[in-house]
Amino acid sequence: DRPAPRPSATRVFVVANQKGGVGKTTSTVNVAAALAQLGQRVLVIDLDPQGNASTALSVEHHRGVPSTYDMLVDGHPLADVMTQSDEVPGLWVVPATIDLAGAEIELVSVVAREMRLQKALAAHPLIGPAAEAGEERFDYVLIDCPPSLGLLTLNALVAGREMFIPIQAEYYALEGLGQLLETVDMVRQHLNPSLVVSTILLTMYDARTRLAAGVAAEVREHFGPEVLKTAIPRSVRVSEAPSYGQTVMTYDPASAGALSYLEAAREIATNGAPR
Ligand code: ADP
Ligand code: MG
Repeated sequence: DRPAPRPSATRVFVVANQKGGVGKTTSTVNVAAALAQLGQRVLVIDLDPQGNASTALSVEHHRGVPSTYDMLVDGHPLADVMTQSDEVPGLWVVPATIDLAGAEIELVSVVAREMRLQKALAAHPLIGPAAEAGEERFDYVLIDCPPSLGLLTLNALVAGREMFIPIQAEYYALEGLGQLLETVDMVRQHLNPSLVVSTILLTMYDARTRLAAGVAAEVREHFGPEVLKTAIPRSVRVSEAPSYGQTVMTYDPASAGALSYLEAAREIATNGAPR
C-alpha cells in the first residue's frame, strides 16, 4: 500500500465509549495495524484489564509480563513495558495483565492519580511534540479503554489529545454518549484543555438494514465531519481474527473488514491532527 504522510508530531488517540461491545478493541487493533501498514510507527496501550487488545495482537499478557499496571501503579517507564509485535512490523504494544483490574482501586491513594499515563507518555523520548521527527519517533498512540468511566479511562482522557469514539450502528447507539461527552467536557475544563473529539467510527454496520442506515444518519447529523466516511461492516472475518492471534489486516487482508479498516486508517492519516 501507498504509505501515508507521517504527522508532524505524535497523535495520541483515546479509544473510548463506556458501552461494552461496541468495537473499541477491534477498532484499536485494526486501525493500529492498518496505520502500521501505511508506514506509520504505532503504539497500542491496552488499558482494559480484560487484555483483549493484547490477545488480538498476540502479545503475552499473563501475570508477571511487564504491563500497563507496572507503568501506572509502580511508575515503571513506558520503554520498559512496551514490546514489539511479531505480527505487524512498526507496531508496539503495552499489554494489560489481570493485575490491572486492581489498579482502579490501588490508584486512588496514589499522588496525581489521574496524571500517571500522561506522565509516562511525556517522559518517553520518542513520543510527543518534543520528539524529533526521525525514523524512530512514534506517529500514533492508540489507547484502548475499558468499558467504564473510572480512573483508568480518566488517565487516558488526561494523556490523550484526540477522542476516537466507536459507535455500533444499532438501536440505542447514542445512549450513554451524553455521559461520555460530559466527562470529556469536564476533563477539558479541569485537566486537559487540548482534548477534542476528532474521530467517530461506525462499527458493525449492516448496509442491508434500514435501522443501520437510520442510526448512521443520526450519528452523522449529531457529530458532523468527525464521523469517518468509512463505516466498518459487520463481518465474521473481523470477529474470528482474534482467536488466531491476528488482526483482520493479516488474517484476511482482502476481506471487506480489512479493506474498511485500511480505508478508515487512511482517512485518519489524511484528515490530520485537529488544530
Ligand atoms: P469493545 O472493546 O467495545 O468491548 P470489541 O471490539 O471487543 O468491543 O467487540 C465486541 C464484539 O464484537 C467482539 O466479539 C468482536 O469480535 C465483535 N465485532 C467487532 N467488530 C465487528 C465487526 N465489524 N464485525 C463482526 N463482529 C465484530
Ligand atoms: Mg474492549
